[in-house]
Amino acid sequence: MTDELLIRHQDGGAASAAEAAKGLPAPPSLHTLIVTCMDARIDPVALFGIKPGESHVLRNAGGIVTDDVVRSVTISQRELGTRTVYVVQHKGCGMATFTDPELVAKLESECGATPEWAPGSFADPADSVRAGVARLRESPFTVPDMEVKGFVLDLDTFALDPV
Ligand SMILES: [Zn+2]
Repeated sequence: MTDELLIRHQDGGAASAAEAAKGLPAPPSLHTLIVTCMDARIDPVALFGIKPGESHVLRNAGGIVTDDVVRSVTISQRELGTRTVYVVQHKGCGMATFTDPELVAKLESECGATPEWAPGSFADPADSVRAGVARLRESPFTVPDMEVKGFVLDLDTFALDPV
């Protein structure tokens, strides 16, 4: 299945991506960064009408603000001039289908090792968005004039509910 994507890359993907990015500077022109879930049904580019060169997009399981998200937001802001952050989590997220202790116990049983990271599961995406927004605001590394907005996305209508 991985080869399907490599075929598409060869079959026009590389050429169209190169054409779209031609001459663009690295700093995002909208000075914006979006943190969202890796859920394959979410297309952040379509959702926000993002064009190449306009915004950073960070994705992980849940769209949670992890140590690595703080790292990337810091570099995005301090080195590439972004100022607005959207934290977008969603209803029906797979991260609500298990708890951290359940996943850790499963990994210990199946893999014989304990993860050094927290899975970051949540029952309510709004609570997780609030925690992520607070974490970014409290970080000593994010810029003071940053604007952070949190949302919960409805995967039926793709409406954004501000948190
Ligand atoms: Zn999700």
